[in-house]
Amino acid sequence: MLVLVLNCGSSSIKYQLISMNDETVIAKGLVERLGIEGSRLKHETIGKDTYVLQKPMQTHTEAIGYIMDVLVDPEYGALKDLSEIDAIGHRVVHAGEKYSSSVLINDDVMAALEECVDLAPLHNPPNMDGIRACQQVMPGRPMVAVFDTAFHQTMRPESYLYAIPYDAYEKFGIRKYGFHGTSHKYMAIRAAEMMNVDVNDLKLITCHLGNGASVSAIKHGRSVDTSMGLTPLEGLVMGTRSGDMDPSVVAVLTDKLGISHDETIEMLNKKSGVLGISGISSDFRDLEAAMKKGDKRAELALRVFAHKVRFYIGAYIAEMNGVDAIVFTGGIGENDAYMRNLILSNLGNLGIKIDRTKNASITGDQSFLSTDDSRVAVMVITSKEELMIARETYDIVRRNRYI
Ligand code: ADP
Repeated sequence: MLVLVLNCGSSSIKYQLISMNDETVIAKGLVERLGIEGSRLKHETIGKDTYVLQKPMQTHTEAIGYIMDVLVDPEYGALKDLSEIDAIGHRVVHAGEKYSSSVLINDDVMAALEECVDLAPLHNPPNMDGIRACQQVMPGRPMVAVFDTAFHQTMRPESYLYAIPYDAYEKFGIRKYGFHGTSHKYMAIRAAEMMNVDVNDLKLITCHLGNGASVSAIKHGRSVDTSMGLTPLEGLVMGTRSGDMDPSVVAVLTDKLGISHDETIEMLNKKSGVLGISGISSDFRDLEAAMKKGDKRAELALRVFAHKVRFYIGAYIAEMNGVDAIVFTGGIGENDAYMRNLILSNLGNLGIKIDRTKNASITGDQSFLSTDDSRVAVMVITSKEELMIARETYDIVRRNRYI
């Protein structure tokens, strides 16, 4: 059983071909700069040389055509024929309140996604382009949509409602939705396996810390709260995103800078976060290098980031009346020992103690970094969102008797 996982962004496509027999990645690749100058496809079939195609690619359909070509290429490919792909799993960002789990794609699902375009104008259209492109290239092949928002649909109204006139929720669907759901769900499942405890008996706080970053409170396997909101701009301070702040800042900035409302939102998405505070970079490696050379604003940016993560951890411990484990994933969560330490040091009164030596020398893709006497387990788990999407796709396709 082979599942192709596709993650279509506005100017990029990431993909993995996964064998579900042993959950191994057979081939993977990335299209970058789609629709702009310098488009390229980089493909790797495991055990073979890397293939790079540099040529203009204007549309998702065109790029997916090149991906399919290389997948069956005798020298670089992994397949004899595209018919060997049993199903395709698509990452889709926003399902609004419509879906609380993954679904088999049909015309009704496409219509529902169209309705959510207002909620995710940057993300849903390229996700849908990817689905349509695959429908053209592989008509009739079962496809599943796996949503970033679905896992958080278990939040209760007191967690997801904004305190604005209720009409805004009823008429426009303005509420907290949360994102990174596939990643938070994967962390919860793996953490329970690592602890050898049923996920239904655990209270977990999962921290997905990458360029985009979010924290979730997961009680008994269900998301009860998460830091991102209507869009992925709310919550933690991120690489280039502001995260939480007084909404009046938007009006004041727009006024003071004499820019449009859209330009202000763009600034909050692309020029804020640790990049905005430091004035140096959104990459934590650059910031830590600058801090070591004495740059005070780089250090401040890192402290503001850590403060916000700690703030949410505290809130979620209160919300769940305790926590059994705190999990880190994402580029920062998996690799940045300095940041993990900054976030968690000094939480001994809450029963959270990390072992500095273990923290500094994580090995493997899942490790504990708490001390033996820490009441709360702390662990790092390598994010495997593609595998999670492949698993959901496989399950749904099987339940619908395609295989
Ligand atoms: P995305 O949200 O784009 O998937 P990732 O999860 O790949 O992001 O995280 C990328 C970020 O991870 C980088 O911008 C960088 O800040 C951070 N990062 C990656 N490796 C390291 C490292 N060794 N030390 C510190 N930070 C790192």
